[in-house]
Amino acid sequence: MDAKVIDGRAVSRDLRARLLGELDAVRASNVNPGLASVVVGDDYAAHAYERRLRRMAEAVGCRFQPECLRGDAEPAEALATIGKLNADPRVSGILILRPLPVQLSEVELYPTLDPLKDVEAVHPANAGLMARGTPRFVPSTPASCFWLLDDYFRHTGRDPKTALRGKTVVIVGRSHNVGKPAVWLALDRGAIVVSCDEYASEAGRLAEFTRQADVLIVAAGSPGLVTGDMVKDGVIAIDVGINPVKGRSGQVHLVGDLDFGSVAERAEALTPVPGGVGPVTDVWLVRNAVLAAVIQHTTLSIGPWPAF
Ligand code: NAD
Repeated sequence: MDAKVIDGRAVSRDLRARLLGELDAVRASNVNPGLASVVVGDDYAAHAYERRLRRMAEAVGCRFQPECLRGDAEPAEALATIGKLNADPRVSGILILRPLPVQLSEVELYPTLDPLKDVEAVHPANAGLMARGTPRFVPSTPASCFWLLDDYFRHTGRDPKTALRGKTVVIVGRSHNVGKPAVWLALDRGAIVVSCDEYASEAGRLAEFTRQADVLIVAAGSPGLVTGDMVKDGVIAIDVGINPVKGRSGQVHLVGDLDFGSVAERAEALTPVPGGVGPVTDVWLVRNAVLAAVIQHTTLSIGPWPAF
């Protein structure tokens, strides 16, 4: 099969052009969106992501405020940082990057975010809205997966609104910020949805389900987890994984959760790593900070926000 490689960079350029227009409209009303990130410790992927976001925000002229805490930061320090950002009118959106060290619990931190600034929809109120199918914010990574799918469906003559109806969507990984919201988005589109996590792998059953996927979204953080013999012919595969791997020369490069070469032999289409989901996610996140600013200034209207 001659798989189409879905070009996330091209899609992100289009999305970025929209974002620039939206930012202009918002600024014309004297509102200046700002995105803040919180990184705790020195995780390579978290810092790489923060740098990418900073570049993206600065490139479109959106204020960016990185907050870095030591890896041994106490919960009180993390809560104080969140409180400071909640109260800062220059910050419209807040992103807490993971992984968090053991002394900090997502369950304790997320509810302390201002729900109107919680651009990744991890606050229970926003997660609830998302699960109900009426999201305030669609978290950037699952949003990007479906944005890429919609774009691909459009380009192949399918209506994105109906393309997933009655299709089997298998999602590997069920984190709060990626896997679970991806399940909710797939359910809202009328798909038959299967969620697999590490226990499906431990039980030796992962391939049983990935082989059923018409659309496969993999977000496990496990390099090359899904190989060609684990998918059916004609699958559309979206690779969320970003895994730093050391090459022979000692240099770190990034690989996904799909074994790209063998999956490409069977797929109708698939996303690469890097250059697939990642670039779209960055734009989406900044866009969510702009949406947050719009929501916080309820008198402001820039027209219907094109979530999907
Ligand atoms: P996470 O660690 O919070 O969750 C991983 C999930 O995968 C868990 O539910 C776990 O049970 C499951 N899992 C782990 N190993 C598995 C296995 N062998 N078989 C089946 N399931 C398994 O991670 P996350 O935040 O959801 O991120 C997942 C991956 O996506 C990471 O590589 C991360 O770097 C990447 N990521 C990419 C983007 C992007 O924009 N492309 C954004 C966020 C995260």
